[in-house]
Amino acid sequence: MRLRNVPGAREEIAASKYVVLDDAETKGKWNEIFGNTHPIQIEIGMGKGTFIMEMAQRHPEINFVGIEKYSSVLVRALEKLEAINNEKEEKGESTINNLLLFRMDAENIENYFAKDEVSDIFLNFSDPWPKDRHAKRRLTSDRFLARYINLMKKTGTITFKTDNTDLFNFSVETANEEGWTFLKKTDDLHHSEYNEGNIMTEYEKKFSEMGNKIHMMQIIQ
Ligand code: SAM
Repeated sequence: MRLRNVPGAREEIAASKYVVLDDAETKGKWNEIFGNTHPIQIEIGMGKGTFIMEMAQRHPEINFVGIEKYSSVLVRALEKLEAINNEKEEKGESTINNLLLFRMDAENIENYFAKDEVSDIFLNFSDPWPKDRHAKRRLTSDRFLARYINLMKKTGTITFKTDNTDLFNFSVETANEEGWTFLKKTDDLHHSEYNEGNIMTEYEKKFSEMGNKIHMMQIIQ
């Protein structure tokens, strides 16, 4: 994700009803925040949010939280969500009301979600952190997998997509070492049995158009 300062991004997101900031007390309160008892699925590192907005529209029976570290990126997702909802309002359709955008660094995720509060996690085209000394920062490292266990229901799944073969191999190896069970695993998602219903992310579109294969795994505790 290209990072540049977007003037006014912080102010714009702070004023929006669709956004939660990292100074909010959310732990154990997500169902209260959404105002229903629906299950909660999260995407960590949503970028501009194409994937999670489509998920929210396809699954009104689920609450979604799109997590993004940078205000400058989150503001782009926010603008898109507002545009979709404005258009829906004009057409007299019901708006997306089962999605919140959360500006937060996933390093601190355990401070914001309680045990069993999250049903499923999506990691799409996570930053690869290729240097060995940065391996702990990868969102599929053992450190992060341990954090996810502290938030997720026992039946919860983690679905991870990337075109980066080294990161994928690292993630498969780590999940194996940490005792996770594989529900799905493919080196070429778009030509696999799992492609039906797949929602492409921004990065997925870009990299598959360049001819890169998309790897995918889905794991459960
Ligand atoms: N998921 C989107 C997609 O597939 O098109 C965006 C992928 S982009 C390569 C990775 C995104 O994850 C960036 O927007 C980055 O800011 C965000 N990110 C990276 N590390 C993060 C962290 N620790 N917590 C929250 N977001 C993070």
